[in-house]
Amino acid sequence: MPHILRNTPSDIASHPVVKEENASPPAMFCYQCEMSTPGGCGSDGQTVGTCLKDANLARLQDIMLFGLKGLAAYREHARELGADTTAVDDVMSETLYFTLTNVNFNFEEHIAQLMKLGAAGVQVMDKLSQAHTCHLGVPTPVRVSQNRAEGKAILVSGHNLDMLRKLLEATEGKGINIYTHSEMLPAHAYPSLRKYRHLKGNIGKSWIDQAQLFQRWPGAIVINTNCIVPARKGTDYYGRLFTYKITGAEGAMKIVDDDFGPLIEKALSLPEITGFDSDETLMTGHHYQSVLGLAPQILEALQAGKIRQFFVIAGCDAPGNAGNYYRELAASLPLDCVIITSSCGKFRFNDLDFGVVPGTAIPRYLDLGQCNDSNGAVHIALALSEATGIALDDLPVSIVLSWMEQKAVIILLALFSLGIRNIYLGPKPPQFVNADILDFLVVNFGLHLTGTAQDDLSALLIDKKAA
Ligand code: SF4
Ligand code: SF4
Repeated sequence: MPHILRNTPSDIASHPVVKEENASPPAMFCYQCEMSTPGGCGSDGQTVGTCLKDANLARLQDIMLFGLKGLAAYREHARELGADTTAVDDVMSETLYFTLTNVNFNFEEHIAQLMKLGAAGVQVMDKLSQAHTCHLGVPTPVRVSQNRAEGKAILVSGHNLDMLRKLLEATEGKGINIYTHSEMLPAHAYPSLRKYRHLKGNIGKSWIDQAQLFQRWPGAIVINTNCIVPARKGTDYYGRLFTYKITGAEGAMKIVDDDFGPLIEKALSLPEITGFDSDETLMTGHHYQSVLGLAPQILEALQAGKIRQFFVIAGCDAPGNAGNYYRELAASLPLDCVIITSSCGKFRFNDLDFGVVPGTAIPRYLDLGQCNDSNGAVHIALALSEATGIALDDLPVSIVLSWMEQKAVIILLALFSLGIRNIYLGPKPPQFVNADILDFLVVNFGLHLTGTAQDDLSALLIDKKAA
């Protein structure tokens, strides 16, 4: 449990990381119970609600709810694969109960509950990772064809690897090629998926290119989880788009009870793919279990000074130029630095050839997989700490995260719950974190908001001579 410091408003205003842009409106807002003032407590400038809940407690409860959403997504996927999530379910229910009106008004206990939620996040990511490797085998590094497609085809987007397995089984021998998009890229590394020869390659980048890409893609499409975006005016790809289970969109077709028949019929009725004939490739498949196999070489390279530092540059992609920060950071790293990534934010830089650490065969770019595979970075760090005797916080590992939605919130809480400090978070500060709470995170968890790539790199890069 971190030491809790309460600051005065003037301390907070003068803190260098509390930027004006983070002054999110309104400071206090809650409208969940009958005692709410008209328009919600705080909507008229009140700093506390009728029940005496203050802005900080209201925000911390919001963060609990956002973390719970991320946890629920991972829990759902783990359950689909038969994992026992009882302990996680208990924390989910308790945390929801915690946010009920008139249950708890204690700041420290709110932080403790958030840490409990984060610990459940660690647990659920491990369970999901184990369920994936148990059902589909341990991923191994693979070079995947990018933006090259042919024949009758289905493009699969989302995160649900088990759905892809079922689809590959259902389409085998039917003359249909299967391609991945966004967070489905790591699928190519799983032995039980890559054994299907009609799993051909990856198309496009992260979820944010879908409207433009899907409009250009003449084949069938299926989105099996978030992130789906509503079709833009003037597009017609919903006529060939299917959704799966919880995912839905007005006008798109639905796969019911794992019956892929209508999707297969649609794919066969559509024209063969044209216009995708690139020679690009992408690397993926550095699941932590696979990276741990490289441990002896990595340790030797660290001891010989051939590896200076690991940079975990991971997280979501979001629309806009702010995400270019991550490309600039990755591209600017010296050759003795290794990038560990996961999630769809990697599409900002995974087209770059990072090569190997000079004097070794260790790749400088390690793609752990999907967002839930972020737990792999922790496993790698723990293994390094154990092998070197260096405390987790003192390892030459820097973490720079990008966030977009609520899975990132549970990942951040998970890292905090493990006591991991000095995380850089961007590209923008979350609007649900007020100045008081941001200051608390800065003081107690060493959280930094990203600045410019070059400034952050100078701050993070270990001086080789001093090391
Ligand atoms: S729980 Fe408290 S702050 Fe929220 S609406 Fe009710 S009285 Fe207002
Ligand atoms: S990593 Fe986050 S933003 Fe990217 S597709 Fe997954 S849930 Fe969406």
